[in-house]
Amino acid sequence: MEIHPKITPIYQTSVFKFEDLNELELYFGEPGSRYLYSRNGNPNSDELAEALTRLEGGAGAVATGSGMAAIFAALMTYCAAGDHVLCAADIYGGSSSLLNQELSRLGITVSYVPFEELTTNLAAYMQPRTRLLLCETISNPLLRVADLRAAAEATHALGLKLVVDNTFASPVITRPFEHGADLVMHSVTKYVAGHSDVTAGAVVARTAEDAARLKQLGTLFGLTLSPMESWLAVRGLKTLRLRMEAHCRNAQAVAELLARHPAVGEVFYPGLPQHPQHALAAAQGAGQFGGMVSFRLADDTTEAVSRFMRASQRFPFAPSLAGVDSSLSYPAGTSHRALSEEQRQELGITAGLVRLSVGIEPAAELLLDLQQALDKK
Ligand SMILES: *Cc1c(COP(=O)(O)O)cnc(C)c1O
Repeated sequence: MEIHPKITPIYQTSVFKFEDLNELELYFGEPGSRYLYSRNGNPNSDELAEALTRLEGGAGAVATGSGMAAIFAALMTYCAAGDHVLCAADIYGGSSSLLNQELSRLGITVSYVPFEELTTNLAAYMQPRTRLLLCETISNPLLRVADLRAAAEATHALGLKLVVDNTFASPVITRPFEHGADLVMHSVTKYVAGHSDVTAGAVVARTAEDAARLKQLGTLFGLTLSPMESWLAVRGLKTLRLRMEAHCRNAQAVAELLARHPAVGEVFYPGLPQHPQHALAAAQGAGQFGGMVSFRLADDTTEAVSRFMRASQRFPFAPSLAGVDSSLSYPAGTSHRALSEEQRQELGITAGLVRLSVGIEPAAELLLDLQQALDKK
């Protein structure tokens, strides 16, 4: 009996069988023709990697056990002991902790570049062994939008690589390779998988050479993703385009409500005309601005945040993002907890800053909930 499943089944196996030694030789002689061992490659993780490669327009990818593993693999693609990296100051807290606490032990050092200088003043941060710039398409948590084309030109002019964390935008909104990026990484945990039920990551390379290096890093550091998680992520990815449309539509409505409400001091959303990179975001994002909205309460205190959290029914506190269900996070207490109070102030992460991950529920329900939670004083 021949079986023709419409959907790739879950190859829940750690290893694959071989008929004879000829077949073993074919595995090594014709790379990609067979599977040997799931850490090295599995049909489900390859399906995820290939889908993301297509979506981002790259040459190849590795699916990893988390977004952190993806950042690690991305940095190790270009760096060795003694190297130096530039990192946008507005960066996911885990990325800066990885650089500060772990890669420093391997002899890889970092300098942080303020957002305003990413495209204009990189040379001032250069060292003899600077290799790359790491930045995010849309930053966490203040939703600043990096000018990727200008960043690519600035990095390449200095002989550096541009590594872009495209988690907040997703390839539906921005495809960093089109703007000159060398590597694009995702926390697949977020929009790509999209249902808050998978932890995974991926790095996509622009060149076949970098893709081969990523494959080796995944295999030798053991960063690769399991069949089941890969399968879930592939299923999620199939609705990415539809979900992003709903996330963006709802987030725009939420941002507009927040901007009108007297209990809100400041709103951060690239879709608002007053956002400093609104025009860039519109051009780079094909008119879509993402599902993340941050805001500062007029009463910029932890007490005011707690009151808001207790009053809201539709935005449960859950320190992640990008699921189909809305949630709320508190950057000062979670993603940016490792920073000093002074560093947080510098980045604008104050006591009253709240980050919303706007889901795909009916917009009216979300707006009603936010209105009543903000009205309660
Ligand atoms: C969550 C996140 C990561 C880390 O991904 P994990 O899947 O949690 O390991 C990296 N970058 C950004 C922008 C993120 O939001």
